[in-house]
Amino acid sequence: MSELLMTDSQINDGTDIAGNFREVHNKIITISKRTDREGGEVTLVAVSKVQPVAKIEAALTAGHRVFGENRIQEAQSKWPALKALYPDVTLHLIGPLQTNKAKDAVALFDVIETLDRPKLAEALKQEMDRQDLHRPCYIQVNTGEESQKAGVALADVDFFVAKCRDDIGLNIVGLMCIPPADEEAALHFALLRDIARRNGLEFLSMGMSGDFEAAVELGATHVRVGTAIFGAREHG
Ligand SMILES: *Cc1c(COP(=O)(O)O)cnc(C)c1O
Repeated sequence: MSELLMTDSQINDGTDIAGNFREVHNKIITISKRTDREGGEVTLVAVSKVQPVAKIEAALTAGHRVFGENRIQEAQSKWPALKALYPDVTLHLIGPLQTNKAKDAVALFDVIETLDRPKLAEALKQEMDRQDLHRPCYIQVNTGEESQKAGVALADVDFFVAKCRDDIGLNIVGLMCIPPADEEAALHFALLRDIARRNGLEFLSMGMSGDFEAAVELGATHVRVGTAIFGAREHG
């Protein structure tokens, strides 16, 4: 096909957003079938951090509605206007959250995926009550026990889930992890799945551009995919 024949969703750097969505969706469906899962069980969270608004608009035009951002301030600069145009958007917070940003996070994000400490849980609960916006939360687990990475330590997860759910009263719906870059991601996905099962949690947010197929195979209900949809990020 001639390079001059651009599709509707193709934008000026040549990224074909709709085509990339189709490709990722098809891979999810292929894996789901092979492993006896229904493709509909996997939600694709399109990670739009650092991407220009034109690319997000192309994704919205292509019909996509679930997005992930990792920084409050950046999300605040892009999403209020986009959400006004597309009120059915669901925005996931997938980056670290400071306690003093809980108010902003609750106001803008529909889902919080990075709950990892009691102080933050208390602050989120207080803000959710105050704003009357009861956002579903995931607990981030530091499956690789990496000192520089956010997330609850493996030894503390069961206790923390119970504390957030039963004592603090948050709506804990699942677990999230980011495996160490230099390890077999599948081992971490299997570990996260087992922790979710024994705690009776329904959702598993795991898998990124490089490993979402393995994650789907191991039971991911949500995959967080950025580069494979929007192309390489310019920075960040
Ligand atoms: C950036 C990011 C992603 C997406 O990564 P890609 O490799 O671009 O798909 C997923 N999850 C988190 C937490 C991220 O920060």
